[in-house]
Amino acid sequence: MRVLKEHVAIVGGGTAGMIAARELSRRGIKTAVYEQKAVVGHPIHASGILSLNGLSGLGIDYRGAMTNELRGANLHAAGSTLRVMTREPIAAVLDRKRLNEICRDEAENAGAKVTVRRRITPSDLNSMGNDSIIVGADGAVSAVARHFSMGRISRHVLTFKAEYNVSAQDPGVVDLFFDKRIYRGLFAWICPNAKDIVEIGIGVDSGFMNSKLAFERFLQTKEVAELIGSSRPLAEGASMIPMARRERIVDEEREVLLVGDAAGQVKATTGGGIIFGGNAALMAAKAIDAGINEGTPLSDYERMYMNKYGMEMRLHSFVNRFYSSMSPGGLANMINLAKSVGMEGFLSKYGDMDLPSLMIKRFFLRSLAD
Ligand SMILES: Cc1cc2nc3c(=O)[nH]c(=O)nc-3n(C[C@H](O)[C@H](O)[C@H](O)COP(=O)(O)OP(=O)(O)OC[C@H]3O[C@@H](n4cnc5c(N)ncnc54)[C@H](O)[C@@H]3O)c2cc1C
Repeated sequence: MRVLKEHVAIVGGGTAGMIAARELSRRGIKTAVYEQKAVVGHPIHASGILSLNGLSGLGIDYRGAMTNELRGANLHAAGSTLRVMTREPIAAVLDRKRLNEICRDEAENAGAKVTVRRRITPSDLNSMGNDSIIVGADGAVSAVARHFSMGRISRHVLTFKAEYNVSAQDPGVVDLFFDKRIYRGLFAWICPNAKDIVEIGIGVDSGFMNSKLAFERFLQTKEVAELIGSSRPLAEGASMIPMARRERIVDEEREVLLVGDAAGQVKATTGGGIIFGGNAALMAAKAIDAGINEGTPLSDYERMYMNKYGMEMRLHSFVNRFYSSMSPGGLANMINLAKSVGMEGFLSKYGDMDLPSLMIKRFFLRSLAD
């Protein structure tokens, strides 16, 4: 039986790194997390929308980070709107800094050692690799992936967003705007983050347009101009989202695994990565535990991930490619057609934010039942 190293060093203290640390520590594995920032979980992007179903699967006590609940979304293209509403709240808006603090506390309470203000360099990785399994949870521009030559992520979107002290028209609904002439590759959004706090943001394919410029064009649209009037942004910032998975996420020989954005574990429909990355962290911990204690290969982690999310990631990519390639007029026609065949009601009842295959299964089951 092959004997693995018995300690784990996690590079990056975002949600994926902290969830992995919590799970490894709960399994009795000595785990250290290294985070370059002084404050754990202080990303520029200050909020996140997460499905309540997905959140419950991660086992995070997230309530203290919740700033709003959402019951639906309006999808807009060229003046047409598809409204998808649920009876009960379907998603939570979370304060990302608070969420990461909660994840850090859960990891530390389980026994993980968290060191902040520690930027891991290539020479650190060489020495860590002598006695520790390394988990790269260091985000989209992963130094761990680069150091261990784990391949590229073929596509990214650049984002720009800002919060304003204004009241949303409907505080339970997020609005998404599709227009490939400006927000190519993703969309623009208006999200009620909390009472009297609205977030305005855009995502655009890297290389297509400067994200700040795309954001400024969104500010000039009627919907945004009417909402924010003359109010000034409370906080704003640019960031990046990986939109495809990395070529390799496990190096069996050198005992290195990637999780979260470092591995490109993101839903390409929305750019949301916390649920997939968090679940990947749970799977990575399970595979490391089994590797140390039963001698199974670390690549079981990749197998588990692909079994659960391979199809889902392909479907998310398909939907993203579909709306990214349609003209606004073409999308508006699709929206009108979808409404005429009752898609609003269907999506409201059967849609799933994370797992599109579930919706397809429900669609076929309904067709069989009809
Ligand atoms: C504008 C925007 C909006 C988003 N909205 C949502 C949303 O609504 N829902 C959702 O699910 N997802 C959302 N996402 C995606 C989500 O933010 C990411 O998927 C998630 O943060 C990934 O978590 P992570 O732990 O993998 O990486 P990160 O959160 O990027 O954490 C990586 C950590 O590693 C640290 N690090 C990097 N290099 C080193 C090093 N060399 N040494 C030590 N530490 C290092 C960084 O400082 C950082 O703290 C959004 C992203 C953006 C940009």
